[in-house]
Amino acid sequence: HAKHQGKNRYAVFKADMELRAQRRLRMEANLRRALQDGELYLHYQPQIDLRSGRIVGVEALLRWNCREMGAMSPAEFIPVAEESGVIVELGRWVLHTACRQAATWCKAGLLDSLEHVAVNLSASQVREPGLMDDIRAILHETQLPRGLLELEITEGVMMDDVPANLELMRRLQETGIHLSIDDFGTGYSSMSYLKRLPIDQLKIDRSFVHDLPGEGEAIVTAIIAMAHSLKLKVVAEGVETMQQVEFLRRAGCDNVQGFYFARPMTAAQLTALLLERRDWSSRTALAV
Ligand code: C2E
Ligand code: MG
Ligand code: MG
Ligand code: MG
Repeated sequence: HAKHQGKNRYAVFKADMELRAQRRLRMEANLRRALQDGELYLHYQPQIDLRSGRIVGVEALLRWNCREMGAMSPAEFIPVAEESGVIVELGRWVLHTACRQAATWCKAGLLDSLEHVAVNLSASQVREPGLMDDIRAILHETQLPRGLLELEITEGVMMDDVPANLELMRRLQETGIHLSIDDFGTGYSSMSYLKRLPIDQLKIDRSFVHDLPGEGEAIVTAIIAMAHSLKLKVVAEGVETMQQVEFLRRAGCDNVQGFYFARPMTAAQLTALLLERRDWSSRTALAV
């Protein structure tokens, strides 16, 4: 009987694996033509200074509305793009589109208080030898002041090959680009590595913010203290509640990003926020 059940379970497992593999293949085929077919676009999510309540940056986030498979989350399609190699082309498009948009905001005089437009870099992009040339060409073509571009590299990708990434980050910094470490707290970087990295900011992973107040407190407090002792700014990701804001404010966190303030939105929607000089000080001020 047990043996029979085991067989059945295996059959279900195998069928499930096959479905997943098929979906992946379909996704990969669709991704290869998504760019040319105009199915990709960017959303922008504000980052807010906890002291002033003003926008200090925006993060560009890739969106895909596939005509065959519908809208999909980057958490699902970025890994497929990564494995199939399509990510390099997609990543270049994201950089170009975000820089062009930022340059438009800049020319319209909308960016004076805005520190940066942040773009996520994937593992393959970081390994791609042409990355520096691509970035230089994009900055040149879009005429975006280089200090306005910030690149986000996850802690996991960073730790993958510290010597190579350190070298790349130094070159990026020399070009005037700002760098931040994304999803911080989920990897294994030590303080001695962090000290050597030419970065400006740590982004506390949203899983810790989710556990505030409560279990996330110790690690969030420790990350903020460590970042400040290394003269880095800290942004908390995934802030959804007033209680989280209260905790972060008291803990001395610099910036926040999350649905409590604003969801990722279209460029047109963000333009409207910038035009009205939107400020969130009513939400960042301490209640007591
Ligand atoms: P990430 O870089 O850590 O981006 C933050 C994610 O948190 C975004 O998910 C954003 O929509 C989400 N988020 C922001 N505020 C909240 C909140 O209050 N609550 C919750 N639950 N979520 C919040 P998204 O856009 O689905 O992207 C997921 C991940 O996909 C990103 O995580 C990033 O790793 C990757 N990704 C997105 N766009 C790109 C891209 O252009 N290039 C690369 N390489 N990766 C990208
Ligand atoms: Mg910056
Ligand atoms: Mg990010
Ligand atoms: Mg993150």
